[in-house]
Amino acid sequence: MKNNDLLDAKSTHCPCGSSRPYEQCCEPYHLGRAVAEIPERLMRSRYCAFVLRHFRYLIATHHPQYLHGLTEQQLAQGKTQWLGLVVMSSTQQSEYGEVTFKAWFIENKHIDAIYECSSFIKQDGHWFYTHGHQMQTRLPGRNDPCICHSGKKFKQCCAKRTG
Ligand SMILES: [Zn+2]
Ligand SMILES: [Zn+2]
Repeated sequence: MKNNDLLDAKSTHCPCGSSRPYEQCCEPYHLGRAVAEIPERLMRSRYCAFVLRHFRYLIATHHPQYLHGLTEQQLAQGKTQWLGLVVMSSTQQSEYGEVTFKAWFIENKHIDAIYECSSFIKQDGHWFYTHGHQMQTRLPGRNDPCICHSGKKFKQCCAKRTG
């Protein structure tokens, strides 16, 4: 996706896969004008920050004790082309939460997903990502809804970008 396409897409649907425009969805979190009240909101806004390359936000929402030296510069080296986010489940109990998701991407005409159960903790009124447990996933079926939330079937959408 070219940058202009991304801007057009942002005005109608936020990259996190919600049906709201970016300004009414993840942007307030990225600008520090809103605080994510539940782990799933934080997780979605973090995925969106990966798509839009808001690396500062990713560092700020990653619990410092779990950063292990990760920097904005390291994140900026990633060239991943993200396709879409699918949240499978999310739970929270007072100060601890988990979100299981698939973050789809394309690399060398090959589609794959980060399939992860992420953990979050709440500190001083803010949720932070701590770490994730990654799992194996399979491509959607050709007739399944596309991972990019286009409303088309997978075979008629992102699958065409492979091979
Ligand atoms: Zn969003
Ligand atoms: Zn698609």
